[in-house]
Amino acid sequence: MQERSAPDSAVVVRGGARSTGERSIPLSLLRGARLTCPACGKGAMFRRYLKVADACPTCGEALHHHRADDAPPYFTIVIVGHVVVGLMLAVEMAYRPPLWLHAAIWLPLTVLLALLLLPPIKGALIGLQWALLMHGFDPSAEEEKIEPFDTGISNGRGR
Ligand SMILES: [Zn+2]
Repeated sequence: MQERSAPDSAVVVRGGARSTGERSIPLSLLRGARLTCPACGKGAMFRRYLKVADACPTCGEALHHHRADDAPPYFTIVIVGHVVVGLMLAVEMAYRPPLWLHAAIWLPLTVLLALLLLPPIKGALIGLQWALLMHGFDPSAEEEKIEPFDTGISNGRGR
């Protein structure tokens, strides 16, 4: 009698892994907004202006799993738009300055605010994804990825 080794005995723990008990959402948001690693709060999350490090330089936590995509620009536009448009309308109602002065104030302020807010917003978003075990931040999902290499089907010529 031969005993078959069961490759389907790989660890696939789904239910418990979704628990975010060990990953505080507010703390992860705060650490991300400070541009630091959501796991340790010490290592730098970014290696360039908006380029996320593959892993935390301090604790080694993998950060390349993030899928921030276009959410950071979206939230930045919403926030900057409300601040700038609100201020612009208030100044217009109070002082009625000439249009060239409006342009000289609000255009640079818009650019500056957007550039300043993008990194902390992106950091907070990645911190949230990490805390919620989204994408590859789920440790059990990493184990699933390794599994396909252990299939036993090695001949690519068919049969
Ligand atoms: Zn870290």
